[in-house]
Amino acid sequence: WLARHALAPVASLSAKARSIGARNLSARLDERACPVELRDLARSFNGTLERLEVAFARQARFTADASHELRTPVAIVRAQADQALLGSGSPEEYRAALGACSRAAQRMGDLLARLLRLARADADEEPVRRESVDLGTVVRESAELLRPSAEAARVELRCEAAPVRVGGDARLLADVVSNLVENGVRYNRPGGRVDASLVREDGEAVLRVSDTGIGIPPEAQPHVFERFYRVDPARSREHGGSGLGLSIVRWIVEAHGGSIGLESRQNVGSTFTVRLPLDAGGEATLRPVPRDSRADRPTRVTGASRRAAGSPPP
Ligand code: ADP
Repeated sequence: WLARHALAPVASLSAKARSIGARNLSARLDERACPVELRDLARSFNGTLERLEVAFARQARFTADASHELRTPVAIVRAQADQALLGSGSPEEYRAALGACSRAAQRMGDLLARLLRLARADADEEPVRRESVDLGTVVRESAELLRPSAEAARVELRCEAAPVRVGGDARLLADVVSNLVENGVRYNRPGGRVDASLVREDGEAVLRVSDTGIGIPPEAQPHVFERFYRVDPARSREHGGSGLGLSIVRWIVEAHGGSIGLESRQNVGSTFTVRLPLDAGGEATLRPVPRDSRADRPTRVTGASRRAAGSPPP
């Protein structure tokens, strides 16, 4: 009787815990109703529920955003195919319809590749190689590949990259450079400029990508690294953007033990600064990505942008 009586609060606590599932993750154990000895346990359990609830909500939002993104290209393919099936068009019209379908399929393919990469990164399944990489070559080659699209947009592209070795995955690091330079071109204006530079600074490799583009409003700056966040969704979509580029960039940089910062002024331009540890001469230089870096948390916004936003320094 004594044992049953003493353990009754534990039984009631575990009954309540059993009743909490995916559908009512916002339910909590009543800590104050627990005997003092069990309060710590109830608090820990509530803390776990809190974290699970946030993760579930993030996952649900991600799924909803991904479906939303896929709806537009699917609608384009359907509309074009339905129109072509009516069978009254000329060869030129059929060609135009197939062209639109092909572009929509390309967009869906790009989006799916990015979604897959983020899902793998979340599950720790995206391989990150550890080799000594000359980041200077990676920067120059990636920038060169984007020269034709910069020229088409009438944006001058400059690149000055010193030979700096870092430890990591050349393929992923090339994605960082391409994403940043591509954005610099995409959110620029005809006659504008994008500067990519790589130097060794304070024992780190420092990559800066600056542009003379439209800039990012202060209130949007903490969000640009979040998945699917766009300041101007229409402009981003018009240029084939998915709203996932910078979140992938942040993941890659952090998987290499580095950090990324942003300074931007509206209608003046933006500078993204990536800092990576130098190659430690064959030693493993990669640190595991901290769990919370995968969350959609605000990223580091540097002094100038904070000042532009009128907020005091930290
Ligand atoms: P997107 O595919 O839409 O370009 P990103 O994740 O690369 O997605 O960037 C997120 C958003 O941040 C963009 O939609 C854009 O609004 C803003 N952004 C990114 N880079 C720049 C830049 N260099 N200049 C101005 N705005 C930018």
